[in-house]
Amino acid sequence: MKNIRNFCIIAHIDHGKSTLADRLLSFTGAVTQREEQAQLLDNMDLERERGITIKSHAIQMNYTHEGEDYILNLIDTPGHVDFSYEVSRSIAACEGALLIVDAAQSIQAQTISNLYLALENDLEIIPILNKVDLPSANPEEVTDDIVDLLGCDFEDVIHASGKTGFGVDNILKAIIDKVPAPIGNPEAPLKALIFDSVYNSYRGVETYFRIIDGSIKKGQKIKFMATGKDYFADEVGTLNLKQTPKQEIKTGDVGYLITGIKTASEVKVGDTITSLINPTESKIEGFENVKPMVYAGIYPVDTEDYEELRASMEKLQLNDASLVFAPESSAALGFGFRCGFLGMLHMEIIQERLEREFDMTVITTVPNVSYFAYTKKNPDVQILVNNPTDLPDPSSMDRVEEPYIKASIITKSDFVGQVMGLCIEKRGEIVNQTYLTPQRVELIFDMPLAEIVFDFYDRLKTVSKGYASFDYYPIGMRTSKLVKVDILLNGDSVDALSALLHADNAYHIGKKMCEKLKELIPRQQFDIPIQAAIGAKIISRETTKALRKDVTAKCYGGDISRKRKLLEKQKKGKKRMRQVGNVEIPQEAFMAVLKLN
Ligand code: GDP
Ligand code: MG
Repeated sequence: MKNIRNFCIIAHIDHGKSTLADRLLSFTGAVTQREEQAQLLDNMDLERERGITIKSHAIQMNYTHEGEDYILNLIDTPGHVDFSYEVSRSIAACEGALLIVDAAQSIQAQTISNLYLALENDLEIIPILNKVDLPSANPEEVTDDIVDLLGCDFEDVIHASGKTGFGVDNILKAIIDKVPAPIGNPEAPLKALIFDSVYNSYRGVETYFRIIDGSIKKGQKIKFMATGKDYFADEVGTLNLKQTPKQEIKTGDVGYLITGIKTASEVKVGDTITSLINPTESKIEGFENVKPMVYAGIYPVDTEDYEELRASMEKLQLNDASLVFAPESSAALGFGFRCGFLGMLHMEIIQERLEREFDMTVITTVPNVSYFAYTKKNPDVQILVNNPTDLPDPSSMDRVEEPYIKASIITKSDFVGQVMGLCIEKRGEIVNQTYLTPQRVELIFDMPLAEIVFDFYDRLKTVSKGYASFDYYPIGMRTSKLVKVDILLNGDSVDALSALLHADNAYHIGKKMCEKLKELIPRQQFDIPIQAAIGAKIISRETTKALRKDVTAKCYGGDISRKRKLLEKQKKGKKRMRQVGNVEIPQEAFMAVLKLN
């Protein structure tokens, strides 16, 4: 136990966490040259393509230092706010954290939020100035920023480059010297923290855990305390590049467990594993059921694919327990599912996985956050509104509450004005403004979640020319003025295009939606009126004019290959379209409300 070190790497996104992790693995020989591949830990195709770590993983390294053999368990953490709960559980499984700061970018919002999480868990922090090889690096200034943030000495900050491998030996030494060995009672009943799980279609769910007390043996009967279910530990082992089965995993160590569980939702990150026969008295604190932040409808493009879509969603949920869904129906789109996601990135990932892994073509409707509504008749009864059509009639409604978040934004002082302007436009209220250095400011806002889950981050990047970082956490529900804006196409209300908007913005956004839909809805043989309405009141109107000529007429009849290409292009474009009445609605139209700027 005294030669085990459990650590994680925390950083703002793109500061080089995955690259440095790869370096540590190759330096310690955990990965041979042949196995080496850029960003080894990001092993889902999607993660690789998007360059982000979606799920956290753990890996064990062996390292000899001054004649002693050490076991180093690296627990990788996801870098996107959508997955922040997983970050917090990974951190809880460690005694130390490498805090990576990009030598050109300096401290950013997630550097600070992750650092706070690490400090709350009493982790030893090893500050690392990364990317020192960059010509744009500012090593002195950024080291000063780190010293200010941590209150450490200038000499404590390790200079490194994940790209060249510079400083990796110093990092390993610091892990051994500074990160405390695990403490825990090997004689006590088993108590282990689940910090991650991965679905494997052959082996069932693989549970990743860190043992706090006791040990876990192959074949033992174990119990998950939050779910109350018990299982046989069919296989336990350590996480090397490949899984290595063992007879027993002891106090302080990190490992995996296979019990034949076939549904991801049975394994909850943050839950405590104990022995069925000799259980621990208290479970590990801080367990949360992860709640979705954003809801949207997912419908098959072809109504006949509904059952297949259900089967695909069920399979997806088996390996992504954070996806929730329930059947719903729409007058416009027929049968589909209302789905809950951790955020917009999660929603995009689910849509992409449905298409790639299950060959489904789906329409995703306007996303919204989840509201509480109360009627005059029963002002104490909370009505959960995850879908615009669930909002009670305005005349019968007492009030609506919407979720709020506390947002932390770090930017250069030059952009404070623009960033504030954006936050105020998004109904933010400033809570605090702190100069971290004369050039860098942290702004704290209370804001409605609805305003930031959609296009906020892109707007923020634009107004700050890329010099702003952003993080947030939920702070509860607040009363709000909310209205439902309906869209009518050709005189018929299309429920799947309805949006819940703040009353002050409803007219303006309703008008812009009509303009945008006019651009997006393909012209047909007849005029298509596009209207926005609040209740019975029409607030805006546009018309998509009838198409006069056959599109292929443009090709002057002569060039057949060009004609075929055009037809193929049309066919492809058609894939993500839904026929509603006699109007064709493309996928982009459902996202139009999010892209009005
Ligand atoms: P993560 O989001 O923190 O995991 O960051 P990545 O490891 O994916 O790195 C983000 C980008 O920075 C990638 O394009 C890397 O190639 C690059 N990068 C990472 N470390 C270094 C470094 O030490 N020097 C330079 N020049 N680039 C780096
Ligand atoms: Mg990464």
